Amino acid sequence: MANEDEREGNESRRDEERPVSGTSRRELLKGAVATGVMAAGAAALPAGQASAHRGEGPLGDSLTNPYGGIPGGGISLPSYYRPTPSVVSAANYFPRVETLGADEMRISFLGSTPYPPREDQAGTCIMVELGNGKRFFFDFGSGCVRNVIGMQVPAQMISDIFISHLHVDHYADIPYVYPFRAWSGGYTPLRIHGPSGRTPELGTKAMVDGMKQMLRWHLEAFDCFPIGDGYEIEVNEFDYSKEGGVVLDEDGVVIRSWPRSHAKDGAVGYRLDWNDLSFVWTSDGRPDELSLEYGKGVDVFVTELAGQDVGQLMQYKYGIPPQLFNYTIDTHHTSHYAVGKIFAETNPRLGMVTHYAADSDIDAEMVAGIRAYWQGLFQFGVDVTVINVTKDAIWSREAALPGKSGNVQPFPEMVAAAERAGEPVPKTFDFPNPRVPREKQQDKKYRDMEIDPAAYYPKQVLRDPLVEWPRDFSIDLSALLGGEGDD
Ligand SMILES: [Zn+2]
Ligand SMILES: [Zn+2]
Repeated sequence: MANEDEREGNESRRDEERPVSGTSRRELLKGAVATGVMAAGAAALPAGQASAHRGEGPLGDSLTNPYGGIPGGGISLPSYYRPTPSVVSAANYFPRVETLGADEMRISFLGSTPYPPREDQAGTCIMVELGNGKRFFFDFGSGCVRNVIGMQVPAQMISDIFISHLHVDHYADIPYVYPFRAWSGGYTPLRIHGPSGRTPELGTKAMVDGMKQMLRWHLEAFDCFPIGDGYEIEVNEFDYSKEGGVVLDEDGVVIRSWPRSHAKDGAVGYRLDWNDLSFVWTSDGRPDELSLEYGKGVDVFVTELAGQDVGQLMQYKYGIPPQLFNYTIDTHHTSHYAVGKIFAETNPRLGMVTHYAADSDIDAEMVAGIRAYWQGLFQFGVDVTVINVTKDAIWSREAALPGKSGNVQPFPEMVAAAERAGEPVPKTFDFPNPRVPREKQQDKKYRDMEIDPAAYYPKQVLRDPLVEWPRDFSIDLSALLGGEGDD
């Protein structure tokens, strides 16, 4: 047994020393995929024979490790795949436990499915945080807010949402969080960036106007609370057709967009550049030349994946005719082979896919398709994958988020954020006055029918009901943080 191990060990060492010659694995797989040779070759091997000798599968001597030869054997990841210095626990990301390095970028997948939503996958949303204290959201799909909160980012600190296009799986949680953001202390305008459409009524501005109308009852109702400027939305609508158009240029951060082919005009991809680090989110669309151009050499390239490109399997799984999937993919989306091709052309340090329904049986097929072209670092971006990026290292972890008790304390977190950013921490917090008290929104007879609290509170704890918000109310933040409260 020992001899055999030794022999095998020597053999693989010899393999390492042998210069790589002939067709590369990528080229070979490419050819095999095109001609179906690989499947035929694999099928021709008697069971068990493929693994009889290490390195002698159907690819024979041309089999190489995708990341190159590293003594010690086995498949190894690139040398830059290691924890960055700011990482506290290499195993998991614990929100608020670590401070992002000054030269570092953190990318968190707070939702990853288009449809259907799942227990473990919210609608697509990618949060990008930078070492200069800035935070951006790319798309804001259904259910992502629970992960934003889980990441200890209070709603009041949500802003700078970049919508890639107006399919609802990319912005469904905006109407949900918008009034609650204001209610929980977000008294400053919410900033939303998004593309124009073919006509003004198809653009992001029109969507926001429509959303405000949809929320009219709710917004007015919450006007009995302090709201300040929290209902204001600064919409930065930009021309969807601009190639490389600058959407944002602030604090050394430049975000550009380009049009994508997604069956209707008004879909864009984004590229963020800051401090010699870069991130691309293509969002939805067919594989296209512009994405190759703007994705070239990026640090982290994230694209969508039409993981359903196995029509027959989808029919079995979801009972939907394969034609419906095939038509959707062939007019709107990027399949696994195309993802591999795009990565190979753009050559990112890390290629990632998100916006797909994760199924363990399909995932393996997706990887096979991607690997037919791409031999670099690859990962899935699912809920809640966290990627740390510096010039020297890239590291991926899953965030450890609370389950049933997920919550975040808005005011303490606001103070903590100011401290982290080295900004002066305010001593007091002044609340804006409510604009429309409930007396102006509700018929008195409905208040009159309320049961007197004295009828249900024990006498010892009965307090004067607070039915009118105090004018010019202000709190001592240190008392609030110390948990002293106010009686
Ligand atoms: Zn989508
Ligand atoms: Zn879409």
